[in-house]
Amino acid sequence: MEVSELKWSYSGMKDYQNCPRQYHEVKVLKQYQKQPTKQMLYGTEVHAALENYVKDGAPLAKNYERFEGMVSSLAEIEGEKFPEFEMALTADKEPCGFSADNYWVRGIADLLIVNGDTAFIVDYKTGSNKYPDPKQLQLMALMAFEYFPEVNHINAGLLFVMHNHFVTSEYKRESKEKLWDEFMPTLKRMSTSFKNGVWQEKPTALCGWCPVHTCDFYKVK
Ligand code: SF4
Repeated sequence: MEVSELKWSYSGMKDYQNCPRQYHEVKVLKQYQKQPTKQMLYGTEVHAALENYVKDGAPLAKNYERFEGMVSSLAEIEGEKFPEFEMALTADKEPCGFSADNYWVRGIADLLIVNGDTAFIVDYKTGSNKYPDPKQLQLMALMAFEYFPEVNHINAGLLFVMHNHFVTSEYKRESKEKLWDEFMPTLKRMSTSFKNGVWQEKPTALCGWCPVHTCDFYKVK
């Protein structure tokens, strides 16, 4: 499978980087399913609450009221707001339907605000802010440049809602090619795995939580 024939998302690409074998068994063959952890379920609830707050001004439930200060300042940013904005591109980087047969890459921006030639992208994080990974914002920004041709400048941020911490980054349309190129080494490795049918195990301390029970590195917790 060539790079242009892949179907990928940022989370899928990360899963491949973390362990190609697990990625193949879970995402490609769908032989195993990752069980959602308590933290993942909580993250989904928080995302829904913040989305409704920004979209409709729906009041936050009591246990999420502490996030109000952070999201109310986002809601006040000028521009057209697109909460939970789904984006998908073909291999030619043309926008297409999120579930179109010919999509190449896709992702959902938690909040996208477009104001003239500038846009703002926010990704809500409910986990730890110890190792922020702004690369996901880079992919969202690249897709947004294709969806909004008038936008030349994107300010983006990971909002760690539990820590009141905002990690920001900035992207310019003129750097698009260079920014896309940064994803290529991993996409090329994925493409090679598909071509050769080799999906290397990458054992870590997290193997005990892996759903691939048939792997030699799986450890019973
Ligand atoms: S047990 Fe570890 S090495 Fe094996 S597939 Fe799972 S994460 Fe990869």
